[in-house]
Amino acid sequence: MLKELKEAARQLQPQLVEWRRWCHQHPGLGFQEHETAEFIAQKLQSWGIEYETGVGKTGVVAIIPGDKPGPVIALRADMDALPMQEENTHDYVSKYPGIMHACGHDGHVAMALGAAKLLNERKEQLAGKVVVIFQPAEEGLGGAPAMIKDGVLSRHKVEAIVGGHLGLISQQLGTGQVGVCYGPMMAAAYSFNAEITGKGGHGAMPHQSTDPIVIAAEVVTSWQRILTREISPLEPAVLTVARIQGGSSHNIIPEKVELQGTIRYVKPETGDILKKRMVEVLDGICTTWQAESSFSFNDGYPPVINDNEFTSFFAQLAKELAGEENIIELDQPTMGGEDMSFFLQEVPGTFFFLGAGNPEKGITHPHHHPRFDFDEDILWLGTALLAGTALSYKSK
Ligand SMILES: [Zn+2]
Ligand SMILES: [Zn+2]
Repeated sequence: MLKELKEAARQLQPQLVEWRRWCHQHPGLGFQEHETAEFIAQKLQSWGIEYETGVGKTGVVAIIPGDKPGPVIALRADMDALPMQEENTHDYVSKYPGIMHACGHDGHVAMALGAAKLLNERKEQLAGKVVVIFQPAEEGLGGAPAMIKDGVLSRHKVEAIVGGHLGLISQQLGTGQVGVCYGPMMAAAYSFNAEITGKGGHGAMPHQSTDPIVIAAEVVTSWQRILTREISPLEPAVLTVARIQGGSSHNIIPEKVELQGTIRYVKPETGDILKKRMVEVLDGICTTWQAESSFSFNDGYPPVINDNEFTSFFAQLAKELAGEENIIELDQPTMGGEDMSFFLQEVPGTFFFLGAGNPEKGITHPHHHPRFDFDEDILWLGTALLAGTALSYKSK
């Protein structure tokens, strides 16, 4: 069954490339992927596949019932682009200035469309139901929780989910290699805002003011001490103050300093320490030096945690499709974030990486780079992995 599916996915390769390039030329920012959603809906309609639109604002959901009873599995692809100007020179560059598919989500859409088509043509082999989720707004706006809120999992009684990310995310993967990971795979990512309010005054008479710049400097360095002295050195954690703003001239002590940054971690316990101690340290320092402070974390993404049992099922299947030597067990999580994590909090499943850099073809630019690209030759494999998972999955 998988052998035939693999061959069919290979046959689909020219169309996968065509769909990917169309998406690449017509990118949409988070929750504005209207053209991509329309493109997906048209394809599904032409193949006679039932679908829902407007799920989580711009999301599209394809529904493929099998001929036999069985479990419900979801395949997930994200479809948003990034606010940046493309610098590639190939003949299918973005038609829209300042918007670019620089993370490979155009490829994800093509792979998932291919899987939907192949599964729809194999309903007699399919047990249960497949729900193909085309998700908006992965890049920070939270399209996954928006779709969950709109009932994409509950309405279809989804029992398991699989999704992948192609590209150069993991240095461990060569072209066409599949990275699997048991347990934590990607970090939680939250941004924060802090404000320190002192008392402004003349730069020559600091004793008559409360200088928030000196206080902010102390806060920034003390926060780093949480990482080095309160979190195990074996536990991944990041605290980056990426923006610090205050003051207007060389001789004026400002009233306020603003700090902005991001924290990343893998284990929820690590996040609890970071979040609690950042506030305590900020408050403590500001109280000591008689300043006021405010602090908030913004909505972020929890860590991506794969289900061990599902991942081992997926790894076995991936070996059959990609060859045993091409399945790499990733030995450490990446500190990037992904909102696939919201789906994996609800149902068991796995997220995989598909190596799609290729130095021989000059494809070496990292994700979110104006010249990011990926090797299209891997598209059929992504389609085969998604469709193969759906065909082989049996509930417990
Ligand atoms: Zn990205
Ligand atoms: Zn991405």
